[in-house]
Amino acid sequence: MSLHAFLWQPDSPLGGGSGSLADCTVAIKDNICHQGWPTTAGSRLLENFVPPYSSTVTQRLLDAGAALVGKTNMDEFGMGSSTENSAFGVTRNPWDAERVPGGSSGGSAAAVAAGLCDMALGSDTGGSIRQPAALCGITGLKPTYGRVSRYGLIAYASSLDQIGPMAYGARDCARLLNVIAGPDPLDATCSEQAAPDFLAQAEALPTRLRVGVDEALLQGLRPDMRANFDAALQVYRQLGAEIVPVSLSLMSSALPAYYVIATAEASSNLARYDGVRYGRRVEGSDIARMMTGTRTQGFGAEVKRRIMLGTYVLSAGYADAYYHQAQKVRTLLRRDVEAALKQADVLALPVTPTPAFRLGEKTSDPMSMYLSDIYTIHANLTGLPALSHPSGFVEDLPVGFQLLGPAWGEGLLLGLAMKYQSVTDHHFRRPVQPASASGRS
Ligand code: GLN
Repeated sequence: MSLHAFLWQPDSPLGGGSGSLADCTVAIKDNICHQGWPTTAGSRLLENFVPPYSSTVTQRLLDAGAALVGKTNMDEFGMGSSTENSAFGVTRNPWDAERVPGGSSGGSAAAVAAGLCDMALGSDTGGSIRQPAALCGITGLKPTYGRVSRYGLIAYASSLDQIGPMAYGARDCARLLNVIAGPDPLDATCSEQAAPDFLAQAEALPTRLRVGVDEALLQGLRPDMRANFDAALQVYRQLGAEIVPVSLSLMSSALPAYYVIATAEASSNLARYDGVRYGRRVEGSDIARMMTGTRTQGFGAEVKRRIMLGTYVLSAGYADAYYHQAQKVRTLLRRDVEAALKQADVLALPVTPTPAFRLGEKTSDPMSMYLSDIYTIHANLTGLPALSHPSGFVEDLPVGFQLLGPAWGEGLLLGLAMKYQSVTDHHFRRPVQPASASGRS
C-alpha cells in the first residue's frame, strides 16, 4: 500500500552539489512553486498548472546544493488537518497506514518520517508544519512571520502563512532554516533584518532558561497526552530549565478568531481562480457561467465552505460583528502572549489533543477537525515562532511537544529542542515501513 506522500516526482532529483545542504534530499510541499514543476496545492483547480517561475525558497535550496526530490501531498490550499482534503487522494501515516499523517503538510511529514527524503518544506497557517510533524514523529518549525520569504508560496491566508523546515531532528531543521531564511526583495512582508546562523545560535543556548506553562490550558487534555507532556517537561527540568506558571487567559478565543481571519483572507486570495488567468477553466455560455463552472468543479467541499464563511464574515452587514472583532481578539492575544513571554523565555504547549486519528474519523464533522488546531494557531495569530518536536508515544503512535518563543527567537527554540534531543531518542525511532511504501503515487 503506497503512503502517497508525493504528488509528483521528477525522474531524477533536481540539483544536488556543493553547499551547506550538499546532496541532502529535500521534498517540497505542493503549494510552493518551482519553475517547470507541476504545482497543484492539492486542488483540481491547479491540476495542470506549471509555474513559470521559482519560489525564493526552492531557488535558495538549489543554490545550497540540495537535491529536490518532488512535490508532496497536502490538504487543498492548506485547508485541513489530515491531508484528507487533497483532490488527489489521502496520504497515510507511515506509523499506521490506517491513520492520517496530520495536515496540511501531511505529505512532507510522511515523506520525512518514512525516510523517503532527508528534509522537507512545509507551510504553516494554523499549525500545518507542527501538527503533521508531531503525528509523524519528526521535528517541524514555524518561523516568525517575515523570517522566510513567501514569494512563490500559493497563498491561503497571507497574514498567517509561513514556510518552514521539517526533518527528523532539530539540527537539520536549523540547517534548512539557515538556507531559506532572510530578506527577499520579492516579498514585501519579508523582514529586512539579516538572518543569523541558527545552528550557531542553537549551540550557544543560555544555560538558565524559564519555560512557561499555563496549567488552565492543559485542563482538558486527555490523561495519556497530559502524562506525555509532563514527561517532556521533566526532561527540560533535568536539563536545567525552570518551569514557571503563566496565564494565557485569551487562549479560548483564539480558535474562533483564527477561523474568522483565515477564512476571510482565503476568500479574498482564492478570488483569483476565475478561469481567466491560469488554472482550470470550464467553458460556459457567458463569463458568469464560465466562472461559476470553473469554481464549482475546481474547488473541493472544504475550500467552498471556507470561501463562503470568509465572504460572510467580510460582508458589509457582518464585518463589524465578526472580522473586525476577530482582529481585536488577535491584538489582545498577542499582548497576552507577549506578557507571558516576559515571565518566561519560551512557552510550552502540547501540539495536538490526540495522537493521529483514523482516516475518515473527522471528515464528516468539520468542527472536530478544526478543534485539532487548538494548540497551534496562537503562533500564527501572534506571528511568533513555534517548534514541535517528538516527545514519545501514546497508543504506540508518535506525539509532539511544542515550544513557542519570542519574535525572531528561532535559534532559542532550535537550541532547546537540540538539547532535548541530545538526551532522548524519540526522534531516532523510525516506523516499520509498510512493505510497498514508495514515494510515488
Ligand atoms: N488546520 C488549519 C486550517 O485548516 C491550519 C492549516 C494550515 O496551517 N495550513 O486552517
